[in-house]
Amino acid sequence: MAKYKLEYVWLDGKKPIPELRGKTTIKDFEKPPALADLPLWGFDGSSTMQAEGRSSDCILKPVAIYPDGARKSAYIVLSEVMLPDGTPHPSNMRAATPDDPDLWFGFEQEYFLYKDGRPLGFPEEGYPAPQGPYYCGVGYKYMGSLARQIVEEHLDLCLHAGINHEGINAEVAKGQWEFQIFGKGSHKAADDLWVARYLMARLCEKYEVDLQLHCKPIRGDWNGSGMHTNFSTRLLREVGGKEYFEALMAAFENNIGAHIEVYGPDNHLRLTGHHETQSIDKFNYGLSDRGASIRLPVNFIRNGYRGYLEDRRPNSEADPYQIVARIWKTVESVGEPALV
Ligand code: ADP
Ligand code: MN
Ligand code: MN
Ligand code: MN
Repeated sequence: MAKYKLEYVWLDGKKPIPELRGKTTIKDFEKPPALADLPLWGFDGSSTMQAEGRSSDCILKPVAIYPDGARKSAYIVLSEVMLPDGTPHPSNMRAATPDDPDLWFGFEQEYFLYKDGRPLGFPEEGYPAPQGPYYCGVGYKYMGSLARQIVEEHLDLCLHAGINHEGINAEVAKGQWEFQIFGKGSHKAADDLWVARYLMARLCEKYEVDLQLHCKPIRGDWNGSGMHTNFSTRLLREVGGKEYFEALMAAFENNIGAHIEVYGPDNHLRLTGHHETQSIDKFNYGLSDRGASIRLPVNFIRNGYRGYLEDRRPNSEADPYQIVARIWKTVESVGEPALV
């Protein structure tokens, strides 16, 4: 028998976007544990905005396990919050979407690293040199030294955890970065994204830095942070066709408000029609168009309207479970064209 540290991580009841919570339990296992070996656990919902009536016990149901490279003999146990009767807690957005294996998602998480109330590299007073050289930039004068150290350490923690990272890059504003996570099924990428946020927020503690997910932390001529959501369905990947694509886009256009509602708070500050965004109340799509609501990758039309689509509207703070649930709903509403 050996002792393992299990960090049960869950999402609290904060609205509109939950925050991450976690606590450790030590358990004995004969060999490294798998998901099926992990017991249910509980917590006091009255301290996390999840208490229902007078009974404050909430249940943690493990749904995914990740090796935790920051601790010895340790795992992160991503958990759904359940009511004592075993049904999902109202705050449990993951449970609201079936895990549809045909839906694939790729999230581009943009974020700032903040210290002393401002982005890394911003002077105490005023602003650094304007945007331009920071995007995918290199050199101390542009990047500083701390940000990349954190970004690289985070990347290694994520890869060690088995998170399906696809890449990282420095972003347009100073102190702004991005990582991309891809997953097949409606849960995998969203699960990985929450755990990646957890790993970053925890890693940053030792540098006295904060993960800043607000979509427009600096007003003025500085880019906001998005979370472009790339998605594809089996139909889009394998069949495609103009007719299905246009039916799908019509469904998106008919649901602008419902999508924006779950695409992250304060998005009107970011979706202005400037800084590579479309206005919040408009919907359009375009080939390689970074000013569109939905961008079609360069070969999408040439490939017979086949491939994936990039919804550019979700912002950095959005809850990936709610994004996935909404896209799933809109895709479902179109159904399968008769010819397929
Ligand atoms: P850009 O910055 O040009 O928008 P990125 O390389 O940052 O492009 O992001 C592209 C995203 O598209 C990645 O997250 C990737 O996982 C995702 N992606 C690629 N193919 C698919 C697919 N078939 N279905 C869903 N997402 C996909
Ligand atoms: Mn990107
Ligand atoms: Mn980006
Ligand atoms: Mn993008």
